[in-house]
Parts: sequence; C-alpha cells; structure tokens
Amino acid sequence: MSRVTPEETDTQRRRRARRIVETLARLYPEAECELEHRDPFQLLVATILSAQTTDRAVNRVTPALFARWPDAEALAAADPAEVEPLIASIGLYRNKARAIVGAARRLVDRHGGRVPRDRKALEELPGVGRKTASVVLSSAFGEPALAVDTHVQRLARRLGLSQGRDPRRIEDDLTAMLPPECWGFASHALIWHGRRVCDARAPRCGECALAALCPSAGSAAPRTRPARSARARSARG
Ligand code: SF4
Repeated sequence: MSRVTPEETDTQRRRRARRIVETLARLYPEAECELEHRDPFQLLVATILSAQTTDRAVNRVTPALFARWPDAEALAAADPAEVEPLIASIGLYRNKARAIVGAARRLVDRHGGRVPRDRKALEELPGVGRKTASVVLSSAFGEPALAVDTHVQRLARRLGLSQGRDPRRIEDDLTAMLPPECWGFASHALIWHGRRVCDARAPRCGECALAALCPSAGSAAPRTRPARSARARSARG
C-alpha cells in the first residue's frame, strides 16, 4: 500500500526524497551491489544470473563459474550444456546458461571481449534488460543509472515517491527527484533497506529510520486474511 499525501507539492516531495537518501546514506554508507564480482564482465554475468533469484544464491555459484570461465573469451567458447550443472541451483538455469554464453559470444564478436559502457549496446546482449544494464553502468562504470528491482518498486511506492506500477515509470519518477550523482547509491540503499527493514510482508516501521519521512509508516503491511474464529475452526474440524 502506498499513500502520497495529496497536499504535498512536487518541490516538497523532491526535498523529502533527498532527505530520504541522506538518511539512507547515514544508515548504509557502504551500500553497494551485493553480487560478488571482480570486473565488469563478472558483474554482467552475475546480474544476468540474478533475475528472479537472490544475490546470495548467485554468490554461491559464481566462484566456481568464474574459476572455470574467467572472462568473455573463455565463456564464449563454452557449450551452455557445460555451464548448466554449475548454476543448476538457481532458477531458470537453462535459459540463464544460454544467456550468459550468448552474451559472452556477442562481447567477443562485437566489443573485443569487453563490456561496453553504453546502455544501448548492453541492452542488445542476450539476457540483458534495462535493470541489468543500469546495474552494470552504475556499479562497474560509475555512470548515473538507477536500477529498479522489486525492492525499489516497493519502497518507492510505500515512501510515496512514485505511484508507478511499472519499473520504467518508477525510475523516471525517482531520477526526476534526485541528482544524477546519487542515482546508483539510491538504488542500492533502497534495496538494502528493503532487505533489512522494509520487508515486503512484514515492514518493521517501528524501528525504521525513515518513518518520519514515510506516508505509509505503520500501515504498509499487506492485508492478510482474518484468522478464522474458534467456532468456525471447530465447526470445520
Ligand atoms: S516506515 Fe515502514 S513502510 Fe515506510 S519505509 Fe519504513 S518500514 Fe517501510
């Protein structure tokens, strides 16, 4: 549930957004991408693998993956069937094996084996959409880009910074309110806060440092079905 206070002007919302990011900067000064990587290639591969799974699950499989295929040239020469067993513990692993090998081949064919510092070129790689491109641009190259994942979507709505339903609208709302130099940090910090405090099912508003800035404080938990009464339970056994 999100509530945007109707009386808040755009200027006031922009100021509040900046105070939210300042507060997050005090809470999580070290907020960064939690996918383990040593270079842009490894970050690209790890981010492709992270679709619909946790960073922790990806971090469990990438050490062996990168030990065997450390760069684009090596992975481009692999057969996706060889890659599958190493990533079989994460969801959609067959598609992801094809995607990362396909991306490596395209890097070799079109970009000299290097990850391009360019959104359009990144989004032409197999398995790469806008969010993955934003992660790579921001975390590997320090470019201004704000990746919108499920945590950012949820927090932007609860914090009343966007009423958008789709990631692109939310990205546009957030980037319109924040200076480009903090887009990358804002994305990571919102993700960290979503993982640690503003949980999807059980947000801990009582201990949240953003509560005074959040129109959903105390009312963000999703509705759950009311518990059946004792009489109803006994009647149905
Ligand atoms: S006050 Fe509650 S809903 Fe708002 S950001 Fe904090 S935990 Fe999330």
